Amino acid sequence: MIRAAIEAARTAPDGDVPVGAVVFDEDGAAVARAVNSRETTSDPTAHAEIIALRAAARVYGDGWRLEGATLAVTLEPCTMCAGALVLARVSRVVFGAWEPKTGAVGSLWDVVRDRRLMHRPQVRGGVLEDECAGILEDFFRERR
Ligand SMILES: [Zn+2]
Repeated sequence: MIRAAIEAARTAPDGDVPVGAVVFDEDGAAVARAVNSRETTSDPTAHAEIIALRAAARVYGDGWRLEGATLAVTLEPCTMCAGALVLARVSRVVFGAWEPKTGAVGSLWDVVRDRRLMHRPQVRGGVLEDECAGILEDFFRERR
């Protein structure tokens, strides 16, 4: 699943931080994929996860609910995306690189596993971490 997210990240538009996300249904079929497009769309909420969740909900068949779904993303989600993952009721979150500066799935906060919430997705972080971090490192190196 992270491999699919890495492939998505590699299609990021010029100038946008290459983060890719893919939503899989209960059977493991990819139903939506997206890349971070904040710069291209001038939209502060256009993170890969948000775009992928919106697209997945349109095809998933249960309104806005994505129960049973897994979202895979190359970078640890931020607070906005972590909140959206809870609201969408995804069952699993898998991510690649840890994000110690803004991460909200274990680094700075752990929004998705807050015990005060009714819905708490399962989490697996650090999957293909080096490869996922490498895509971001290459991007920022080229910009310097
Ligand atoms: Zn985010």
